[in-house]
Amino acid sequence: MPPEEKEHGSRPFQLACEQCGACCRWPGEVRVSAPEISALASHLKMSEQDFVESLTRLRKDRRGLALVERANHSCIFLENNQCRVHEAKPIQCRDFPNRWMDHLWGRISPDQLQRLYPMLLGCPAVQDFLQTQPPGDQGLPSMGRTTS
Ligand code: SF4
Ligand code: SF4
Repeated sequence: MPPEEKEHGSRPFQLACEQCGACCRWPGEVRVSAPEISALASHLKMSEQDFVESLTRLRKDRRGLALVERANHSCIFLENNQCRVHEAKPIQCRDFPNRWMDHLWGRISPDQLQRLYPMLLGCPAVQDFLQTQPPGDQGLPSMGRTTS
């Protein structure tokens, strides 16, 4: 669904990913649960042990595992700006940016949004949606695209 057709309010966000890959290059962690590790290992035709040893690392809070990233912070599975494990990608990836917008839209000030969630503003789908909104509507700023 194109962003301009997005219905919000009580409806969940359904912004359409524009496949720019920006969220896959942003510094941070892609958390992976045990079922997600199974699905990813199966997708890659690897054993779960090999997958964990070669493609995950301990999360910074030590509460689980995250995907390995490259030195430039991009995800290990980003290749030619495409996700190599698209069919099995973790829910954290599948939910971005719509779940974030569901939580934040109308509940956070522009300053907080810019300070705490710069990655969200770096998403073209979010930017396209924001540009359809009246300036200052829902407490969010009207601003230009900030993708890297
Ligand atoms: S798993 Fe795929 S969608 Fe998720 S960050 Fe990596 S490349 Fe991007
Ligand atoms: S930043 Fe937004 S548009 Fe770009 S790949 Fe991620 S979800 Fe899709």
